[in-house]
Amino acid sequence: MPAESLRFDAVSKRYGETRAVDGVSLTIAAGSFVALVGASGSGKSTLLQTINRLIEPSEGRVLLDGEDVAAGPAPALRRRIGYVFQGIGLFPHMTVAENIGIGPRIAGLPATDVDALLDLVALPRAIADRLPEALSGGQRQRVAIARALAPGAKLLLLDEAFGALDPVTRDALGSEIRALHDRLGLTTILVTHDMAEALLLADRVLVMQAGRIVADATPADLLHGDGGEAAQALVAVPRDQAERLRGIAREQAA
Ligand code: ADP
Ligand code: MG
Repeated sequence: MPAESLRFDAVSKRYGETRAVDGVSLTIAAGSFVALVGASGSGKSTLLQTINRLIEPSEGRVLLDGEDVAAGPAPALRRRIGYVFQGIGLFPHMTVAENIGIGPRIAGLPATDVDALLDLVALPRAIADRLPEALSGGQRQRVAIARALAPGAKLLLLDEAFGALDPVTRDALGSEIRALHDRLGLTTILVTHDMAEALLLADRVLVMQAGRIVADATPADLLHGDGGEAAQALVAVPRDQAERLRGIAREQAA
């Protein structure tokens, strides 16, 4: 099964006076890894959730492989889309294996190959019988990713999925997600407020501000200074930090 392409066609979502998403039109090529960056409240989660229909747009439509996501039943749509968010609810009373297999089981699909999925997300097979409470934060997040991919999803949506993790685990998991994306031929949208993470992992970075996409550029272009003011303000943060660290190292060496 090939990766899925995605198109937003003048998508807006209003809550009273608030325009959470404001006229977004955008095509995401099958197989690409896109980061969606922006301040808290800029509309990232709302836009992401119009894809799997957790949110219904006020206007516009979303097309998955050319087909309106609103056309068919939502459960079938959601099986094609892996969705992982921060503080994801693994079922606390279910084992790791039961958590990973729940989607296909509910849908009456063949049983999930739990061992293969644990291998995929670099978890030891021996944890299959554990409850989530007996896992580290990073391990839980890997289980959530395995569960998201269990029905054979080719589109992966990650909404601040690494937010609660320590920086070392977060960095490692980010790299592994990118490798997984390449290996499985996924289309991935990573929502993050961390521009460094976006630059390091994505093929393309979208910056969102007040419901609109205000920048759309490759990491290389952003690092060259392109992409506009809002994007450059975000790129300045990790760049300044890196320069300050280099400055400290130089002082110590002197
Ligand atoms: P982000 O994920 O970038 O932090 P959100 O998509 O969650 O932003 O929110 C975008 C805007 O829409 C914010 O102003 C938020 O307060 C508002 N919003 C989101 N969900 C709702 C809701 N269910 N009811 C009212 N306003 C909402
Ligand atoms: Mg959000």
